[in-house]
Amino acid sequence: MQPTLITDVSCFITRPDRHNLVAVRVTTNKGTVGHGCATFQQRPLAVKTLVDEYLKPLLIGRDANNIEDLWQMMNVNAYWRNGPAMNNAISGVDMALWDIKSQLAGMPLYQLLGGKSRDAIAAYSHASGDTLEALFSSVDGLLAQGYRHIRCQLGFYGGTPAELHAPQNPTPGAWFDQHEYMANTVEMFRALREKYGYRLHLLHDVHERLFPQQAVQLAKQLEPFQPYFLEDILPPQQSAWLEQVRQHSSVPLAMGELFNNPAEWHDLIVNRRIDFIRCHVSQIGGITPALKLAVLCQAFGVRLAWHGPGDMTPIGVAVNTHLNIHLHNAAIQEFIPRSASTDAVFPGAPVVNDGYLYPPEKPGIGVGFDEQQAAAYPLMYRPHEWTQSRLPDGAIHTP
Ligand code: MG
Repeated sequence: MQPTLITDVSCFITRPDRHNLVAVRVTTNKGTVGHGCATFQQRPLAVKTLVDEYLKPLLIGRDANNIEDLWQMMNVNAYWRNGPAMNNAISGVDMALWDIKSQLAGMPLYQLLGGKSRDAIAAYSHASGDTLEALFSSVDGLLAQGYRHIRCQLGFYGGTPAELHAPQNPTPGAWFDQHEYMANTVEMFRALREKYGYRLHLLHDVHERLFPQQAVQLAKQLEPFQPYFLEDILPPQQSAWLEQVRQHSSVPLAMGELFNNPAEWHDLIVNRRIDFIRCHVSQIGGITPALKLAVLCQAFGVRLAWHGPGDMTPIGVAVNTHLNIHLHNAAIQEFIPRSASTDAVFPGAPVVNDGYLYPPEKPGIGVGFDEQQAAAYPLMYRPHEWTQSRLPDGAIHTP
């Protein structure tokens, strides 16, 4: 097979809506160009530096056909590995290489991977409100669009406290109260089941806001309301506690959007401590490691629910969809509606149609990148407040 030589690698940051999105372009001597998602919206310039200053010189002149070799080389080339920022940078290149390979093959990515295992993937989106009435209205809007799986939150992550008893002169931050959150979440599920019955699939994101024994209590209390899954009931560093959560509750557990490193997910999968893995594909290094993770999960009965937040490019949305269409253990896909400005920069990504996502059918990943449009929305950054979450006494907590 004739080599497809890499002639350029470039990285772009654009903020067409609320988030700084990072995209990578790989150019080849055959004229075929690929694009990938490298978004790490909290640290976008770190990713761009890694692509421009370290990956580009490593990759120019290499054969783009050999994705596996290039991924392994990028992964070990800095010696220290498996961390955020570097994984995002590698992902941008990796997705672009898969984009190139499937364009050269003349088929959409899911066909290159082995073809369909389903017609479409069920999608869920987010309903939220500070009151039950506001939440019901948000749920009704999604039901009208055809969703049958809806993530429900009362207030922001950890709840929006109504009666916070804070110390004097509290440190600035995003405050929450675990006890109020737990009580309100149980009431939220009770009210949702009373209003909508049990046919609608309800999901909920705890967003690692609890201490371990509180997680056990919440999972036990929510069991009668049959959540589709509870997400991130604990932070990754406390995942050994999931054993206890499972002993007390049959509520399905989903975890993984914070994972970077195979060491973080291996034990959870082989010991069957979670039901769904939720890794963020660009955070683990792209399509190449995602395929390996999916195969490991399949052997142990763990299903896939890739992270799909607003802070990823539409290229990432399309990649998730191709993976979901191909991989038999895919269960569900998180989806956030996009702005017209985002779609103008990244045209062609899938949208939810009556509760399902369908894959792009063009050769490649199927999402374009308009560099001129992207330049109209430059990077804007300020320190994030929501990741400065604090308990009632002022202690910082995982966001
Ligand atoms: Mg989440």
